[in-house]
Amino acid sequence: MSFESQGNPEGTFPSSSRRPPFFFREEYAGLIVKGNFMTLAAKPKLVEEGEWLAHQVVEQYRLLEQMIDIIKVVDDRTGRICNPDVCPTMSASGHTYTWLDNNKNPIKIPAIQYINLVQKWIVGKINDPSIFPTDTTSPSFSAATYASGSLTPMSTPQPLGPTNLNAPLSQLSGREWLGKTSGFPETFESDIKSIYRQMMRCYAHIYHGHWLDPFWNVSAYKELNTCFVHFINVGKLFGLLGDKEIEPMQPLIDIWLAKGLLPPLPQPKENVPVTAGGAPQAAPA
Ligand SMILES: [Zn+2]
Repeated sequence: MSFESQGNPEGTFPSSSRRPPFFFREEYAGLIVKGNFMTLAAKPKLVEEGEWLAHQVVEQYRLLEQMIDIIKVVDDRTGRICNPDVCPTMSASGHTYTWLDNNKNPIKIPAIQYINLVQKWIVGKINDPSIFPTDTTSPSFSAATYASGSLTPMSTPQPLGPTNLNAPLSQLSGREWLGKTSGFPETFESDIKSIYRQMMRCYAHIYHGHWLDPFWNVSAYKELNTCFVHFINVGKLFGLLGDKEIEPMQPLIDIWLAKGLLPPLPQPKENVPVTAGGAPQAAPA
């Protein structure tokens, strides 16, 4: 059940007299911290891009997980947490995201079930050494470290291991891909884009389904905004999200763009075809 007054089949913002949801209004677009999120998202000079994005994806997932935990809290008073009665589908602003059943047919499942599947899938990816290698030359960047939950946004660049010094040589032969010099597989870029897309859907559902209750009611909406603006910043800076994916949250993103909190020009890279391999091939219905 959406906080918005009614569904809107196009997923676009109503043009009539209906007022936008609270979370698309500037007075509720505030953050808990002041700071430059673009600096926080920017890759330190000495860090290889694949390493940086692996770090970012894990960090972004850690932040999203905290927000998801909030909609999983049992609320005896209102009962308006995310459960199959309240949210029978994974929806956001007229978009309904579907899952694939065993026969690869798209099916609608309750939002909380969808989110649980996404979480399981992302944790599986992050902990899969073939996707997030743990034996790179720079142990401090390993997936094991990422998964420890101890990460805070890095403020100082960390030195890379000697393997990276060989990068120019390896680049002379064979194909190139994001993270190759750090030992990431060729599918790394499409994997992290898939992860990012699913995380985006979770944020969209959290806002459209649960902004008022619980986030507004427990005064956590600025925390939600802060996690989300950081998520969008990284996504835009590194081309991890396409325009279509962020559409359900575009009005809020536009507010932050106008405030200079996001990179001025969206710079999505070419969309890399998503590989299968157990990825939730969910798509907007
Ligand atoms: Zn929900």
